[in-house]
Amino acid sequence: MGNSQMAERYGVNCRPCGVPLPPNSDWSDLRQENFPFWGRCHVFQNGLYYRPVNESGNYLCPNCFEEPQRRQEEQQRMQEEEQRRRESERRRLS
Ligand SMILES: [Zn+2]
Repeated sequence: MGNSQMAERYGVNCRPCGVPLPPNSDWSDLRQENFPFWGRCHVFQNGLYYRPVNESGNYLCPNCFEEPQRRQEEQQRMQEEEQRRRESERRRLS
């Protein structure tokens, strides 16, 4: 725990994309929240970056943090499009 706070003090990197995350000097506003996909996460500096509570070192910039959600929405969009395509085909054939 102490070690990870040291790392955060000097600034850490986003694990998936490597972007540098802002150094943390104040833990007073550190909070935990539950999120879909990630479960319980530390929220650093009001959402500048995140870390799942049980994954030490797995820091996530907001971009990577939102990635699974975006991917799911994208999948959903493709499924809906596919369905529309099939429906219009069915209409055309009948
Ligand atoms: Zn990232």
